[in-house]
Order: sequence, then structure tokens, then C-alpha cells
Amino acid sequence: MKKKLKLKAPYMKVVKILGVLFVLIVAFFIFLTSEKNSLRKLGYSKKAISSIVSKWQIGKVKEIGENKTVNAAFESEYYQQKNLEIYEKVEYQKQKDIIKNINTLVKRGYSSKQISMILAHGNNEDVTLFAKRKKVKYLEQFFSISYAKLRNYDRYVSYYDKEREDDETTVLRVNMDFDKEDYTDYIEISNPSDTVLVNKHRMLTEDYVPKNLKEVKEEYIKFPDGKMELEQKTLSAFIVMMQAAEKDGKHILINSGYRSYKDQVEVQQEYLQAYGQNYVDNYVSKPGFSEHQTGFSIDVASRDTSIFVESDEYDWMMENAYLYGFILRYPKSKEEITGYKCEAWHYRYVGKEIAKYIHEHNITYDEYYMMFLDKD
Ligand SMILES: [Zn+2]
Repeated sequence: MKKKLKLKAPYMKVVKILGVLFVLIVAFFIFLTSEKNSLRKLGYSKKAISSIVSKWQIGKVKEIGENKTVNAAFESEYYQQKNLEIYEKVEYQKQKDIIKNINTLVKRGYSSKQISMILAHGNNEDVTLFAKRKKVKYLEQFFSISYAKLRNYDRYVSYYDKEREDDETTVLRVNMDFDKEDYTDYIEISNPSDTVLVNKHRMLTEDYVPKNLKEVKEEYIKFPDGKMELEQKTLSAFIVMMQAAEKDGKHILINSGYRSYKDQVEVQQEYLQAYGQNYVDNYVSKPGFSEHQTGFSIDVASRDTSIFVESDEYDWMMENAYLYGFILRYPKSKEEITGYKCEAWHYRYVGKEIAKYIHEHNITYDEYYMMFLDKD
């Protein structure tokens, strides 16, 4: 018996050690699985988690908590341990090279707050280009304005130097291409939305025809002469507005609606012959640059008065048009902004919500578009 026990002792020791080891390993894996689960619950991806584990950053990341930029950092091959605190503070943007660009911007000397600003005002390509340049001045000045664009930075600086306008005006006007000549370096729009902005810097392509054109009945037209069409929502809104005006004893009619690119070529030639180049430059849009090609524009008229600004209908429209989704597109006080001499008769359908905002804030559609709708 004694002999047997003696023989067994070292063997038992090994078993015991192995047993303890096994328990430890199992415990470690259980622990790791639960840590991974808690990271997953915080929104970290499988790829990020395996990188977090291999870099021994579980504790730190749990402390940080849910954070999309940190997740992207651990997913990225460009992860740098020394920048973890920056990743934590930089606001996430869905950009392919976000981590690579953050690293470069840190090297350029930008703070996490400034980096957030840079990322928020451009797309991946804009940020990548911007990161290539030396640190710039006046960053906060322009990019605390929500609609400032990273790619316009140099234009803001030179416009500001030249015009000495305030920051908001500078950003807005450069976005509106105030620093460019009319009809040069313009944007061509082939697939416009209902809120499309057409002006001397943004044109519709020659072949663009609105999809929902509807013929305007003769009874709504001041001088019926051939077919007139309008985009269907615009026409419906006009009829509602016209009927409301009738109730107030005002008689509103339409002088002009949708005009094709080709129509505009003809209009331009007619006016050129009748009134000369100066008139054409101030009042007649070049083909493609006319808002009438959108189908959302109407030139209104008074049934009984030939000069519209002298009619009661003019006053009624100024007070009430926005309630039906129409805005005066080229007001007297905004000639510098719209680039057009006042056209008291030219209304644009933009829908009630936008029309109300523009009416209440006394701004132009060019400005509204740049502040709220421009996603280029
Ligand atoms: Zn017009």
C-alpha cells in the first residue's frame, strides 16, 4: 500500500497543476467572453473588439463607453495608441479615411474640437485634401457656421479680405458664388428636386423637362395664346390661392408658366430685339438659367390692371402668397442677392413650410437654399 501511494504522489501533483491551469484557462475565457459581450453591447464591431483585445485596451474602452470614432479607430489599420484620447473626443463622421485623416490633422496641430469641425464640414475627399495642407488660421471663424464648406475655405478667406463682411455673410455669399462672375463656372443640374435652386450660377440642362407638367386652363390665363403648362403641385396651389384671392375680391391670373429651354431662347431673342441688350441682361434669364424651366414658377397678373405693381392683386400677393406656398422670387430690396432687378410678378412655388420661413425672415430663396438645402 505504502509503495503504491508513493508512486502516485508526483502523478497527482501534475494532475492537480493541470487541473488548476485548466480551471484558470476556462475562467479566463469565460471572463474574456463576458468582456467581449459588454463591448458588443456598447456598440463595438467584431473587428474592433478583436483589435481592442489584442491591444489590451478592454478596460480603457469600457471606460470610454459607446463611441463610434473609437470603434472606427480600432477597426482601422491606422490606429495609433497615442491618439486614443483624441479619437474619443472627435465627433464621428461616416468617412472612409476618418482615422487616417484624424492622425494627420493631429500632426498638423489641430485640437480634437477643431478636428471635429473640419470633419463635419466636408466629405471624405474634402477632408483628405484639407489634411494635406499646413494648419490654417480662422478655422473657428468660418466653421462655427453650420453651412460653411471645407472646400470653400480659401474663397472665404479671400472674400473676407476683399469685402470685409461679417463671417456669416462671407460664408453665405461665397456659397452663393458671389465671388464668381454670373454665368461662368456654373453648376449644371440634370435631375432637379422640388426644391431646386436655379440662378445665374446654377442652370438646368437643355434636355430637362419636368415630369409632372399639367396644362393650365384658359380661364386662369391673362392672355390665352397656345398651350401653357405648370408642374402639377404648383398649378393646384395656384388654383387654391386664386380662389382665396377671389373671396377677397382680387382677381389673379397667370401670364407665364413653364418655359422650355427652347422657349427661353425665343424669349431672349424677342426681348433683345424689342428692348436691347441692357434690358435682356437685367430681366431675361439665359436659356437654362430661367426658373421657368423648373415648372415651379409663375408670372402673375391682375385681371383688371395692366401694371401689376399698381394693382390690389400685387398687395394681396405680397401679404398672402406665402400662405399658399409661393414666394416673391426677386424682391426689390434683394436685387444684389438674387442678381435680378425686382420682378413684382414672378413667384416661385416652394411649399408652405419653406415659404413661411422665407416670408417671416425676409430672406431670398438663394439664401434659404444655401443655409438649409445645399447638400453638395
Ligand atoms: Zn418670371
